[in-house]
Amino acid sequence: MERWQHILKKSLIKGDQVSAEFDLEQEKISKVIEEYPVRINPYFRALIREKGDPIYRQVVPDGQELLDDVGIDDPLNEEGDSPVPSVVHRYEDRALLMVTHQCPVYCRFCTRKRFVGKAPIPREVVRQGIEYIRAHQEIRDVILSGGDPLILKDRELEEILKSLRAIPHLDIIRIGTRVPGALPQRITQRLCRMLKRYHPLYININFIHPREITEEVAAACSRLADAGIPLGSQTVLLKGINDDPETIKELMQRLLAIRVKPYYLYQADLTRGTEHLRTSVECGLDIIRGLQGRISGMAIPKFVIDLPGGGGKIPLLPPDFVIGMNEREVIVKNYEDKIYRYPQPKEDRVFSGHQGG
Ligand SMILES: *Cc1c(COP(=O)(O)O)cnc(C)c1O
Ligand code: SF4
Repeated sequence: MERWQHILKKSLIKGDQVSAEFDLEQEKISKVIEEYPVRINPYFRALIREKGDPIYRQVVPDGQELLDDVGIDDPLNEEGDSPVPSVVHRYEDRALLMVTHQCPVYCRFCTRKRFVGKAPIPREVVRQGIEYIRAHQEIRDVILSGGDPLILKDRELEEILKSLRAIPHLDIIRIGTRVPGALPQRITQRLCRMLKRYHPLYININFIHPREITEEVAAACSRLADAGIPLGSQTVLLKGINDDPETIKELMQRLLAIRVKPYYLYQADLTRGTEHLRTSVECGLDIIRGLQGRISGMAIPKFVIDLPGGGGKIPLLPPDFVIGMNEREVIVKNYEDKIYRYPQPKEDRVFSGHQGG
């Protein structure tokens, strides 16, 4: 067994373990985890400094999860876009392939909390998904997802990557994972040597709070980047965890410094059991407003809502950046609240046939 597997094995996964560790009411915790499993591995446990802090809230079960009367089990209607059980094919040229239901920790805010940590995905079902992708030439980009693909053993993961690489119409393979930030020991040199045989491979990593960027995490990301894998980040805005401009700014700057390019900042999905963690959309817009022009453009993620019911991701920008637009000019407000006019090309004005107001 590898070291990371030993660490994972020592995770808190039972109601009595969690309630004893954090001095909580056992009956309540047990009720929550009957519905939504818990896993707090010892590495992530050690990041918690006190009860209720931003790391604690991400992984310690909360009675409020059972009181949500707003959320829905499958908020993005992934099942509606699922031609076979392990594939979500919503956009024409790309698809998600679910390869496991296990994760390094079980995030209380997870969009897929309806199944993570529960029944495993049979290998046959993953194979069926790969066959679907093979049969659909329009798919150029496959995103391994789950659960967390990097929780698979090297051999299991390689089998999937090898089968995918044998499909001629696939351009890129992506992996969506929380492992580099939640169990960095799993990012071994051996794993990286294996992964680099399947380029072009991209990895997008879930990070929530700047305290997750430890020396071990920086070293894990370095190993991946040194294997030539471009790294991106995905962050969900969460109430009482990271919902303020300073926290997000620090997170994005620290990510860029460890060679992870901020990709998406997500408005929380309407997932059942997560209503107590959901922020307002204005909160996200304020954060983006606060970043624009003030930190490296490379450190600014796209703020998106993944629309309920399967509408897909849509980027949002603070509406006050663009004040007006017509055939002659665009009027904008910059990051210092100064107003600028940008004239349209002259030819377009002539051919537009009328004068705009
Ligand atoms: C997020 C997502 C993707 C990937 O979207 P990108 O914007 O290309 O990163 C693909 N399929 C589904 C179903 C998704 O939810
Ligand atoms: S690691 Fe990802 S899939 Fe797993 S519980 Fe966390 S958010 Fe959900």
